[in-house]
Amino acid sequence: MARNADPSLETLLSMPFGGDAGSVMPPIYQSSLFTFDNYQAFEDRMSGASDTALYTRVQNPTVAAFEGMMVKAEKGAAAVGFASGMAAISSTVLAFVKPGDRVACVEHVYPDAYRLFERMLRPFGISVEYHSIAAFEQDPDLLKGVTLAYLESPNSVMFQPMNLPAVAEHARRHGTLTVIDNSWASPAFQNPLALGIDIVVHSASKYISGHSDTVAGVAVSSAEHIARIRDLTLPLLGGKLAPFEAWLLIRGLRTLGARMRQHEATANTFVDRLSALPQVLRVNSPGPNAVPGLTGRSGLMSIEMREDVDVRVLSDALTHFALGVSWGGFESLILPARVGLAQAGEQNSMQRFGVPSNLVRISLGLENAEDLWADFEQALSKSAA
Ligand SMILES: *Cc1c(COP(=O)(O)O)cnc(C)c1O
Repeated sequence: MARNADPSLETLLSMPFGGDAGSVMPPIYQSSLFTFDNYQAFEDRMSGASDTALYTRVQNPTVAAFEGMMVKAEKGAAAVGFASGMAAISSTVLAFVKPGDRVACVEHVYPDAYRLFERMLRPFGISVEYHSIAAFEQDPDLLKGVTLAYLESPNSVMFQPMNLPAVAEHARRHGTLTVIDNSWASPAFQNPLALGIDIVVHSASKYISGHSDTVAGVAVSSAEHIARIRDLTLPLLGGKLAPFEAWLLIRGLRTLGARMRQHEATANTFVDRLSALPQVLRVNSPGPNAVPGLTGRSGLMSIEMREDVDVRVLSDALTHFALGVSWGGFESLILPARVGLAQAGEQNSMQRFGVPSNLVRISLGLENAEDLWADFEQALSKSAA
């Protein structure tokens, strides 16, 4: 059968499962356990001679179907689903660090990843240091003695992109394991494993789901790294992905490519027009080729407003943008940094890393781009002279 050697993401993610009665979607195996036909089959499974489904905390066929799609999407060898992005992050990091180890983390990291490092890793005797994107890229010895580098490209809040092949090369020289949160770009716009990064994690609650109806996570890597997570933190911390959530994520992945192109087109419109406005000091939104391997612009960006723009008035004057956390769905959202700063007192990473006070984050959804722009323009005109 003749076919292209390297099918595109959309083609890979469109493949029917060929299940019972020709179903293109897998069934939802809503079962906690799976039984065995006879003693020998049970013994083989428990001794590791077979790997059929056993118990949904460690393995479930619907979850495995999602994991298989993520392996293709991220060009990895194996994947493991989790109950949330934070379960993916914590279970991945904790599988590879022990007391006395050093973790190097990028500045402006996702705030709950920061809290995990500060409030849980540090008390367990794991030291965490934070560095700028420039330091990761330019200092070849930054990672000397560092067990694990925790990366985002672009990072959260400021959306600064990182040259991943350069950082992966520094890490390799020092034997540092690299982990990246690829939620912003999604597998449609960036494949960090192909750029030399060791492990990719996602908040699948965002673009992978795309429908703001589930909270989930996933890690993708080599067979060896995923086997370690499956041996330690998946079964022992137990933050597994549920079969129904996995089924929703398979539904989401089917349209990932098409949705990301729509988010990108709207984001391009906003970046062009926002940059021309006198009330806007800066738009943080990396586009294709801002760094090697980044092939698109997602719909999540931040805007540094002039001081006289009242972001409270702006937020309340919007019709098509709702105030809320999260992002990556069909609906457009706005999150003023001041509201984020008001959240969690002393452990707040935005205070630590310094965020322009008049910054707003917007997530551009799948609505008509001209409707969104007209709404943003009228709200902005009410919020500043
Ligand atoms: C939302 C988010 C997370 C956490 O994911 P959950 O699914 O909410 O646990 C991690 N990283 C980034 C960049 C996020 O935006």
